[in-house]
Amino acid sequence: MCLEKAGNYVLEQLELAGFEAYIVGGAVRDKLMDVSIRDIDICTNASMEDIKQIFPRCIDVGVQHGTIIIPVSGHAIEVSEFKSKDVNHNKTIQNDLALRDFTCNALALTSSGEIIDPFGGKSDITNRILKVVDQSETTFLDDPLRLLRGIRFSIQYNFIIDSFTEKLLEKQANMIKEPAVERLANEFEKLARHGLSNKDLKYLLTHKVIEELSNLFPQKNIILSALTTSVGELTIKGSLEWWSLAAFSSDQHRAQKVLKTYKRSNQLIKDVLKIVTIVNEGLSDTINDYHIYQLGDRRIAAAEKLYHFLSPGKPAVNLTDRYDKLPIKNKGELVITGNNLIHWFPNKTGSWFGETMKKIEKAVILQQVKNDEDQIYHWLKKESQSC
Ligand code: ATP
Ligand code: MG
Repeated sequence: MCLEKAGNYVLEQLELAGFEAYIVGGAVRDKLMDVSIRDIDICTNASMEDIKQIFPRCIDVGVQHGTIIIPVSGHAIEVSEFKSKDVNHNKTIQNDLALRDFTCNALALTSSGEIIDPFGGKSDITNRILKVVDQSETTFLDDPLRLLRGIRFSIQYNFIIDSFTEKLLEKQANMIKEPAVERLANEFEKLARHGLSNKDLKYLLTHKVIEELSNLFPQKNIILSALTTSVGELTIKGSLEWWSLAAFSSDQHRAQKVLKTYKRSNQLIKDVLKIVTIVNEGLSDTINDYHIYQLGDRRIAAAEKLYHFLSPGKPAVNLTDRYDKLPIKNKGELVITGNNLIHWFPNKTGSWFGETMKKIEKAVILQQVKNDEDQIYHWLKKESQSC
């Protein structure tokens, strides 16, 4: 069952049980824009208890916030109770939509395909305009994450921010330091997943809201000058490239601090720091093949991109070519396994096997021995004699 069908199934079940239910937010926006839908959020007047009865297999991850996940054919459909401003407001779809951030996200879709659009979101999507739903001074104060979401949507969908919204964004830019770093990082990750062109990066880096996050982009001036002197079109795509650029610094500790501030995973921090190190070293030709092998294709591609971007005029270095020519790309490609070693050297014990496999791996990559069973055997015999 496709995602949309799974969403409709949940709508229909809720309606059959006598409740109102709508697909809301991003899914409706993306459907109208003909963009592929990544997740479906449903809003209903059913209570968490009602929902649990209708869908006994639901996963109550966010029940205290009025949200539940319904698994349908491998899709996770998020169902929330209608929200309202306070107890004096009725819980209706209109009141729920009024609490959403931008008009393009304040849309609801019924099971029969009717669109509920109290704030003109549909026409704003057609005209590619990003506008806050709540046209008051408090909208960004209510949830300052909206400042970053606004910038993200304008980049992602190429929307023009309307003048009231833009003025408010600039006026209240300093509030961007308020939301939890995980929420900020999540928006950046979404932006990175979409990808950023030179134009997008320039816009982002010079926007007042991003300027307020002063620990991001320690080398902002170098990046901006690279963007203006134009080094050709560069697309920053994916988490690794994004955080490598956002944390890039000639000072490792500073780069690490940025990543820690945004609570990135240890693996990502490790990956980014490796990239930062080799870019700072100028992707030197002295990097040996074993180092290239350990870096792997993803980190090499990101490092090359960053290097050519941040060091215009420096001679091009092509580590990807060297990576492609490596005799093996991972240890699974070695023709021998630990079993060969046990068979060849029955008197050896313990850690010798692991250490020897590592030694063989390195020797194959450095082309000291061919990835060939006989040759490895003879090379090992010779090595053990010389020890
Ligand atoms: P994406 O497709 O990139 O995930 P999205 O709009 O679906 O974008 P989500 O974070 O998944 O973003 O949020 C789903 C919906 O919830 C939004 O479309 C919007 O209606 C509402 N929403 C999310 N965050 C906020 C917020 N900070 N303030 C108000 N409404 C919000
Ligand atoms: Mg979404």
